[in-house]
Amino acid sequence: MPPLCDGSQIGCLALTEPGAGSDAIGSMATTAVRDGDDYVVNGRKLYITNGPVADVALLYAKTDPARGARGISAFIVDMKSPGATVTQKLVKMGFRGSQTAELAFDDCRVPAANRLGAENAGVACLMSGLDLERAMIAPICLGIAERALELSVAHAREREQFGEPIANFQMVQSRLADMYVLVETMRAYDYHCLASLNDLPPGEGGRGAAHASRRPAAPADTNRERPPVRTARRRRRPATSSAGISSVVAGPSGCNHRNRSGSARRRRGCTPASAGPRRPRWSRSDRRQAAT
Ligand SMILES: Cc1cc2nc3c(=O)[nH]c(=O)nc-3n(C[C@H](O)[C@H](O)[C@H](O)COP(=O)(O)OP(=O)(O)OC[C@H]3O[C@@H](n4cnc5c(N)ncnc54)[C@H](O)[C@@H]3O)c2cc1C
Repeated sequence: MPPLCDGSQIGCLALTEPGAGSDAIGSMATTAVRDGDDYVVNGRKLYITNGPVADVALLYAKTDPARGARGISAFIVDMKSPGATVTQKLVKMGFRGSQTAELAFDDCRVPAANRLGAENAGVACLMSGLDLERAMIAPICLGIAERALELSVAHAREREQFGEPIANFQMVQSRLADMYVLVETMRAYDYHCLASLNDLPPGEGGRGAAHASRRPAAPADTNRERPPVRTARRRRRPATSSAGISSVVAGPSGCNHRNRSGSARRRRGCTPASAGPRRPRWSRSDRRQAAT
């Protein structure tokens, strides 16, 4: 830990695989087989942040494949070990200051002493920080959304059509107002989540108190950068791709949305059937039709 804390070494977290993304635990194919004082690791890990430059990896592998989530262990792997390789550095649309890689482990021997926690108890290690990680990613989305809104407002003021700035048109003002509301909703929910993490004891940044917070659920989605993102995309601004990517890291927004809906129903003690009417979703073609 000291070299990771002082920055003299770089770590990465190797969970996701080519065939195991949202279902990282269920579909995991990487195995670690005990052989004397070592484990022999075989498998591929994909989209690994810091992968190209990491000195060590916190790697998850199946030690008892028949036991599903109860058969996964966590290991600290020295990336200089024979059999551990960076197979490719990925080229991303955004987040380019953060390097991402595919890693391969071919008969890579990892000392049993490098197992983190008990054998087959890796999921507890993983879940101890997952919600904390998600909460830390949300402010990145917020910053990108704020910037996308700023760019949209500036563009609406500068761009003239029909002899005046498009910001003078009520339809454009309405869109900007919607974006502003979404950014502010996102900010409020984001701060609410971060505040609930404030007093967490070490090791409870996963599906503990933060996940099951009894405070009223805010209605917004932490990944509400999407409308400003769409605006930015039309203007071909680089902010777009970073926001899109950040809605995938640590679990894509579709899955997080499903998780949040489950949490909200549990908190309110209602079943999906009695969860109340759904807010209508308006597509762009709906809006066009309504405008004509
Ligand atoms: C920039 C970046 C950095 C990353 N860093 C790391 C890292 O350091 N370590 C690491 O291990 N991983 C990392 N990841 C991987 C990341 O956690 C996965 O990309 C993520 O879990 C989604 O997996 P996937 O891309 O395979 O998408 P898939 O699982 O294939 O999902 C595809 C789509 O289907 C939707 N979907 C899937 N299942 C459901 C469901 N049940 N309900 C509703 N919708 C669903 C998803 O929302 C998504 O839109 C990183 C990813 C990115 C983009």
